[in-house]
This record gives sequence, structure tokens and C-alpha cells, in this order.
Amino acid sequence: MKCLILSENSNGVWPHLHFRSMGSYELRNRLEVKGHTATIIEWFTKWSEEQLKSIINDYKPDIIATSTPFHTQDLYYLKDILTWVRDTYPDIKVIHGGSRQYDDEFEGLIDVFFLGRSMEIFDAWLDNKDLEQYTLQTEPLVLVNHQFDEFVDNPVIPKLKDEDFISSKDILGFELGVGCKFNCSFCNYELRNAKITNLADPKELHNYFLEAYEKYGVTNFFASDDTINETDTKLEILAEAIRGLPYHPQITAYARLDLVTSKPKQLKLLEEINFRSLFFGIESFNPEASKLIRKKSGIGDNIETLRKVKENCDTYTVGGMILGLNGDSEESIRSSANQIIEEKLLSSIQYYPLSITMPEGHYDPYFASDIDKDPESFDYKIIEVSHVHHGNKQMPQYIWKSDWTDFREMAELSNSLHIEISDKIESLNHLEYAGMYALNLHSPIYTEKARLQLQSQCYSYANALKSVYIEKKIYDLSFTKS
Ligand code: SF4
Repeated sequence: MKCLILSENSNGVWPHLHFRSMGSYELRNRLEVKGHTATIIEWFTKWSEEQLKSIINDYKPDIIATSTPFHTQDLYYLKDILTWVRDTYPDIKVIHGGSRQYDDEFEGLIDVFFLGRSMEIFDAWLDNKDLEQYTLQTEPLVLVNHQFDEFVDNPVIPKLKDEDFISSKDILGFELGVGCKFNCSFCNYELRNAKITNLADPKELHNYFLEAYEKYGVTNFFASDDTINETDTKLEILAEAIRGLPYHPQITAYARLDLVTSKPKQLKLLEEINFRSLFFGIESFNPEASKLIRKKSGIGDNIETLRKVKENCDTYTVGGMILGLNGDSEESIRSSANQIIEEKLLSSIQYYPLSITMPEGHYDPYFASDIDKDPESFDYKIIEVSHVHHGNKQMPQYIWKSDWTDFREMAELSNSLHIEISDKIESLNHLEYAGMYALNLHSPIYTEKARLQLQSQCYSYANALKSVYIEKKIYDLSFTKS
């Protein structure tokens, strides 16, 4: 069987970035292990309709696998092409993976939707096994994994090939472990509360870093783990994988600051790994508010940890803060912001009002956090229901009231805080920073104008890289015409 994998991992809210995908590499690997043939088309929203049709005509796939992380927004780019595929090649199976919610706009165009992390279901589908336990709907087939299988869902370390035309400016992904053992009450990441977390093999990861550098000149990477420092072991694996390399990989990742505070060993490991950028999901410096969302922390300790991270690591640090949590207060939010700015303890800070949403239709079960599922039991009173965009769809968003404020006040506070502090601290996300760093474009940004300029420069540069990739891929595929 031949499979054409159409992947888009750097568009939507980040059209100026150029991260490579991960799911598509795992898909190709699983197909090849079973004796099938597959090729990956990266950044499909940058290909013209004619180019994609011509590839489909020449490659003659049995399966077209579309891969977009989190939602289907980028999939809309393929709507006309998929309609043409339906009319021209009715026997081609079209499948989709990566989204967390089923999108009925693709009815008749996509045969199978795999929701959430779905390697186990993909294998079962490929092997024509009974899919009843995963089936949410049959026309079209919508499949979901309710519980991941630690023997099937292993951490992804992509297998690189020359036909991927990887360049030295690319940012490649890897995964240290599957799932997260915690279950913070506001979190909707996949595979939370995981009892067994499979971990990557440090030797395999070492060889991956080595090959990426020696064959393709790559030095920038992203870890897709929800929490890179969930355990000391994860960081130890990464440190071991880096040791002995002829260069230092520049890695960006998500981490928990309170775990660094409570496990002093982690600071040494952070120093050794020397991440290029880290996103600390701090949420609140107020110990009472943190405790109520199942993230224990205390201002003294976490602030001290940030001082140590600043002193010992050359890392761009981003702090993610949630506004409006029960037990918090505007005074506490403002005083911690002042301290962070005064001591320059973070490179960037991002504020968000607490978001309580309720997914509709078919979705992966982790897509709703514990607070989303039952806000009242966490003492958030719902006063109204509004709507928020999720990809191309609208999703109900609750207008809540906490023990000291409400959603609307916090949406305003978030805007005014960003304006008030914008000339003192950046507000870039760690991925955005990493994309700019890989292109050698980052410089301090203290105005909205400077930020837009940098994004636009980044967009042009990333587009040029993508165009070179597309040209090479088209040329390469012209030799494999069947
Ligand atoms: S917020 Fe982070 S640590 Fe907490 S459950 Fe989510 S991924 Fe895990």
C-alpha cells in the first residue's frame, strides 16, 4: 500500500514559524515497518492546489493521510483538493489525525477521523482489526483512544530520511515520555494522570541528535512533552543523550517551575541541558491559588528558583500565568509581576484569563479538564455561556465567577497588564522565540510594532525555506512516478 502524508505543523496562529512535524514521521515509520510505502509532504498549506494535485496524480496513493495538530483549521486548505480526490480517485482512502475534536464539515471527504493520540488505533485500522472499542461513529468512521497502551504508544523519535530535505535551519521534534503523571485541574493536555509513563532510550535520542547534526546540520529541536521535568529521570535521559555530542542541541520545551523548586537536583540538570527556551506553566505565584489547581508552589521558593535558573542557565524563560483563580488576588498578581520585572527573572511573561470551555460532539476525553467538566465543584460559578474559536469551529466558553473576580474582569486585566509591562518585559511564547532563534532573527522586542516587524521578517524567511523544501520534494518525487 502507498500512503501520501500531508502534514501542516506551522501555520494557524503561528504562520511565521517553521517547525517540522512529528506525528507524520511516526505514521511513516509505522507504515514502513508493516511493509507499506509512504512519503511526507510538509507544510501543505504552502503548496499550491496544482502542485498537490500533480503529486497525487503522480504518486498514486492508496491512502492520503492528513495530519494537523490539535484542530482542523489548516485542513480547510485541503477542502477543494479532497473534493477533487473524491471525484477523480474514489478508491483512495482519506484519513485524518491530530485533531482533538471531530469536525463534521469534512463529511464525505474524510473516511476516518483518528482523535487524540491514536497510534494504537492506527495500527489496528491498518491491520483490519476489530475497531469497536474505539468507535464513536461509523459514517464517517470516528475513532478515539480512551486509554493509551504503553506497549504501543512509545515516545516518538522521528526517523529522518534524505527525502525529507531537512535543512540546517529546521527545528526537529522529539518526545521523552508519553503522558503526564499529574492531573492539574485546569489542564486539558492529552494522557494526563498516566500511571505508566514510557520513556525514550537515551542512546537512541543521542543518535538522533548526532544524525540530525552530522547529516543535515540541524542544531535546533523541540520536545513535545507536556512537562519535560515531570520526573528527574526525564531530564537525566536528555542530559545523557546530549553528553558526548560534537555540538550542544538548542532545545525548547514546557516545564513546571514548582518541580524545579521542590527537586533541587533538577537545577543541575537544567544547567547541563541548558535549554534554549523553556515555558514554565507557573499559573500563579500565590500559594493558595496554586494549591487549589493542584500545583503546589510558594512565592519565596519559586522566585528563588527563577533567580538560580537565571544565574546558571543561558535560557530564554517564559512564564505562563492564569488570571482569576480562586484564592488569588489582583494585588498578588501585580506584586509578583513587579518583582519579576524588577529582577528580570523571566525573559517573557504571558497572562491568560482562566478558560473554562465545554467541547461538543465527539472529542478526545482528555480535551476537557476537570474544571471544564464540573466548574461548580471547583467553586467556579457559571453566570453565562459565550463562544470561543477552536480552529474553524465555535466552542462554548463559560463566563465564570471565582471567589474574587470574574472572566470579563480578568480578560480586561490580561489586556491591561500586557500593555502596562510591554516596554519592560517581552511576551513571546517559547516556541515563537525558538523559531526566531533558529533563523537568527531574535532581538529584544519591547513594542507591538517591533514584534509585528520581527514576525513579518520571520514569516518571509520561513516561507523561503519552505519554498526550497517544496521545490526539492517535487523534483525528488518526479523520479518516483509510477
Ligand atoms: S499542567 Fe502540566 S503538569 Fe499539570 S497535568 Fe497538565 S501537563 Fe501535567
